[in-house]
Amino acid sequence: MIQFENVGKRYPNGFQGLKNVNLKIEQGEFVAIIGLSGAGKSTLLRTVNRMHDVTEGKLTVDGVDVMTLQGKSLRQFRRKIGMIFQSFNLITRTTVIKNVLTAFVPDMPWFRSTFGIYTKEEKMKALECLDKVGILDKAFVRADQLSGGQQQRVALARTLAQNPKIILADEPVASLDPITAKSVMGDFKRINEEDNITILINIHHIDLALQYATRVIGIRAGEVVYDGPASEVTEEVLEKVYQGGNKEEA
Ligand code: ADP
Repeated sequence: MIQFENVGKRYPNGFQGLKNVNLKIEQGEFVAIIGLSGAGKSTLLRTVNRMHDVTEGKLTVDGVDVMTLQGKSLRQFRRKIGMIFQSFNLITRTTVIKNVLTAFVPDMPWFRSTFGIYTKEEKMKALECLDKVGILDKAFVRADQLSGGQQQRVALARTLAQNPKIILADEPVASLDPITAKSVMGDFKRINEEDNITILINIHHIDLALQYATRVIGIRAGEVVYDGPASEVTEEVLEKVYQGGNKEEA
């Protein structure tokens, strides 16, 4: 479970990115975070794996106060949390399978990582993860030969190879066309349902958020202004979240 108790985040320049956030997210939930650009969606997501430190209140993941983690314990904690970005972050000049295999590097002895020597089990796991997102046939193709949707699936397979309990996805479909965006959201949904992985996704497409997530968190100026089932997001709720802005440009 991810629990925010009166969490605040003040950036070093004094800007208050999050204010008094209280949330409980159970294992296996699929949560979409919506809000205007600059509302604090990314800040919220990035506090979960300590890419950003919270400055007030308490944030726990499975009972562990994330601010107490340091060095090795922080690295081990982060291994259980996958992160997906809008820009895929692949090594484009190498093959798809080698990209997925990089997931194992942090746990490998130095001589194996230096020479890129992977075990049969690691290779099998990488292929299994590619199969899970429907691109097994692309395993030996160079990553830069793939479409945007396929590249995001490689990123998803690489994250799955870590055996994460949680996946944080920061605008993962923002640079994809509408049809591809839907099918990548379908992959997140399947992984969520089949593997009980908690998914937290920042998304500015409201229709996709409502269609795929079961819970929606609406953020406005660093504060949670809606937290409830996707099925109960009404025009009024959207008004509250996007008031004063253009939701098409969120
Ligand atoms: P969103 O993901 O909803 O677009 P962000 O979480 O990226 O919003 O940003 C929320 C607010 O925090 C924005 O006003 C942004 O300018 C500010 N912000 C983000 N990172 C920093 C930083 N490192 N220092 C100061 N302010 C920041």
